[in-house]
Amino acid sequence: MFSSLSEKLQDVFKRLRGKGKLTEKDIKDAMKEVKLALLEADVNYKVVKDFINTVTQKAVGEEVLESLTPAQQVIKIVYDEMVRLLGGSDTKLTFSPSGFSIYMMVGLQGSGKTTTAGKLAGLLKKQGKNPLLVACDIYRPAAIKQLEVVAQKVGVKCFADYNSKDAVKIAKEGIEFAKASRCDVAIVDTAGRLHINQELMDELVSIKNAIKPTEILLVLDAMTGQDAVNVATAFNEQLGIDGIIMTKLDGDTRGGAALSVKAITGKPIKFAGVGEKMEDLEAFHPDRMASRILGMGDILTLIEKAQEAIDQKKAEELEKKLRSMQFTLEDFLDQLKQIKKMGPLSQIISMIPGIKLKGDVDFDAGEKELKKIEAIINSMTKEERQDPSIINSSRKRRIAMGSGTTVQDVNRLLKQFEDMKRMMKQFSNPNFAKKGKFKFP
Ligand code: GDP
Repeated sequence: MFSSLSEKLQDVFKRLRGKGKLTEKDIKDAMKEVKLALLEADVNYKVVKDFINTVTQKAVGEEVLESLTPAQQVIKIVYDEMVRLLGGSDTKLTFSPSGFSIYMMVGLQGSGKTTTAGKLAGLLKKQGKNPLLVACDIYRPAAIKQLEVVAQKVGVKCFADYNSKDAVKIAKEGIEFAKASRCDVAIVDTAGRLHINQELMDELVSIKNAIKPTEILLVLDAMTGQDAVNVATAFNEQLGIDGIIMTKLDGDTRGGAALSVKAITGKPIKFAGVGEKMEDLEAFHPDRMASRILGMGDILTLIEKAQEAIDQKKAEELEKKLRSMQFTLEDFLDQLKQIKKMGPLSQIISMIPGIKLKGDVDFDAGEKELKKIEAIINSMTKEERQDPSIINSSRKRRIAMGSGTTVQDVNRLLKQFEDMKRMMKQFSNPNFAKKGKFKFP
């Protein structure tokens, strides 16, 4: 996710950090590179221009240039602006005060609408809701079947009528059926087209008027970059949307759509699709996403995934340790083992601060890296895992031999671990977000 953008930005910041004191020219040069990285990531040109102007304006101020940690201040400014670009604060799904909510899923064919309708039903079910899926994509015969299959996967009911060609009627009947079945949420899957056309919009407007959805959620394929942003603009103008679900972020190394769509349409991204499986839908958190893009990891999502996949008590202990800075290599190893259970490594790895993948997310490289780390920690004694500071050169040689790795590998792991601990310390600092308290490894 966002790996090529992330790598480029981290390179720029690394060079900036290497300079110590910064001049206005240093910042302007760095901003040129950031600009290029964003444009290459297919971020909308106007959005990039505004972003660079704002960051430059804030960064060349005396306060930053004269500070003891100018590079970190600049990165903090970029981070803040990136959070803003991604939507600012979290925007949650609105539930109807009536107790019965209707979500209308719209989007082009292939954007992932049907899959996402199923994922959303699964997510809401986990939160204690009782959702019904309603199949209104009558043009693609396989779509109804597909929705029934995903409904079964996540264990919710699906309303379908294979004989009807009237999407508005099906939608209305679906809502009646949901109410009669004591469901509290109806998720209506509508038809898409390959491109936006009037017929599609007219149909969607008719469905909207007939069922009065609590929210209209536009499903966008992140991998289509600026096309996705244009689609969002059109849907918003012609139908009106309440939020966006950005799918296929797992395959999107650039990030242009996610970084532009809020600024261009004013509508927030509420969820992110990060894989083909039913559990691969995450609430969208702009701050956590910005952390991931800037290579600071996403420890909060990691903890949440741990809480979902792993026994609750263990996850709580882990969180406590992280916050109280008592996190040892032993816990790190334990965590890595759990991580393996938690899903595709390509997703999980990007959330761990300190572990960086080069280039496109390379699943095999991630897998190997984890195996190596596991082998290294396994070769350590209990004391060494509790207190890595006792690991001198001869211990390092022994550990490297025992794990079939090199002393450099051991050193790298120890450094990553220290980086990670340092970062945790900042995350757990209540002044984290305040200027000047923010430090990157
Ligand atoms: P629809 O035509 O909009 O209903 O799209 P579908 O739900 O049929 O999805 C199209 C393809 O995208 C399917 O192969 C899905 O498995 C895939 N897909 C949907 N969401 C995601 C996602 O978040 N990540 C990945 N990798 N694939 C996805």
